[in-house]
Amino acid sequence: MKMLIADLMNRLRGRMTCAETLVLLQQYLDGELTVEEARAVAVHLDSCTRCDEESEIYRQIKASIGAASEVHDSDVLERLQRFGERVGNGEVS
Ligand SMILES: [Zn+2]
Repeated sequence: MKMLIADLMNRLRGRMTCAETLVLLQQYLDGELTVEEARAVAVHLDSCTRCDEESEIYRQIKASIGAASEVHDSDVLERLQRFGERVGNGEVS
């Protein structure tokens, strides 16, 4: 996977890259990360509009899942994977 300029800048600043954030995003929203990991994700979301928007979409998906009786985690995972691929391909501006 090629490194995006924004990811490279994050790396230089000691911050998580978008790819790393996306890997942890679902667990972050589920509250399954350690304090350190959750803080790192929060810092990234604070400084990255596209990941912040993506996390908001997941939050809404999870909220609608919570309202339903059945859990469709695969839907969230699929979306997460698609977004990860788009980021990896440099298609997300
Ligand atoms: Zn990001």
